[in-house]
Amino acid sequence: MKNSRHDAPGTRHLLKIGLMGGTFDPIHYGHLVTAEQAYHTFGLDSVIFMPAGTPALKHHPEILPREQRFIMTVIATSNSNHFEVSRLEIDRPGPTYTVDTLMELKDIYKDQAEFYFITGADAILDILAWRDAKKVIMNANIIAATRPGYDLVHFEQVEKKLNIKPKVHFLEVSALAISSTDIRRRVKQKKPIRYLLPDGVYRYIMKKGFYV
Ligand code: NAP
Repeated sequence: MKNSRHDAPGTRHLLKIGLMGGTFDPIHYGHLVTAEQAYHTFGLDSVIFMPAGTPALKHHPEILPREQRFIMTVIATSNSNHFEVSRLEIDRPGPTYTVDTLMELKDIYKDQAEFYFITGADAILDILAWRDAKKVIMNANIIAATRPGYDLVHFEQVEKKLNIKPKVHFLEVSALAISSTDIRRRVKQKKPIRYLLPDGVYRYIMKKGFYV
């Protein structure tokens, strides 16, 4: 097993694995900056991007097919040595539940890793509606990425209702001014999206004619 990158040589410690959960429709620089900031702030060994297969609580009806979102995530992360992309949720049929992913990963890594589930703060606010929310919280640290100025008051109510104190860390990410919703809207309105996301992803969207 690889040592944590802050361990002295020869010592064996738990791997610290970031799980970057999202629909990534499409992936953009806000996501990449979030993952990079989490990697450095929490001393993670790697960040695994986990595109959701069929997002459980998704409201917008025209989500791109899972395989296309997976390909864009691979393109976007290809330059980083500490980012990986998993097919775990892409290959699992039915709605995507984070608890299933965590249980599968725990089975793969046994007791050799601890997990940091990273996603948007708004998604975490809905955690009460997630399948086995308590199990998710008990098996992962949660990193909730916020835009600057985000009001954290809603989280206190969520914590009260859960009856257990979730290990939620907040990470303020300026680049989250970028959003997938805005990118999709901009394409539809024929506005530029270049430089909001990696060039390879931009070219792939244009080539395939997504979001028009
Ligand atoms: P969402 O509701 O589409 O996203 C809510 C907000 O968070 C949006 O502003 C979104 O911005 C942002 N966001 C999403 N992923 C992010 C990330 N990795 N880093 C930074 N910001 C992010 O959320 P979602 O994509 O459906 O779900 C997010 C994660 O929670 C996924 O892993 C999903 O599987 C999990 N989840 C699990 C359950 C369950 O187990 N029942 C239910 C709901 C969600 P963008 O639109 O720009 O990404």
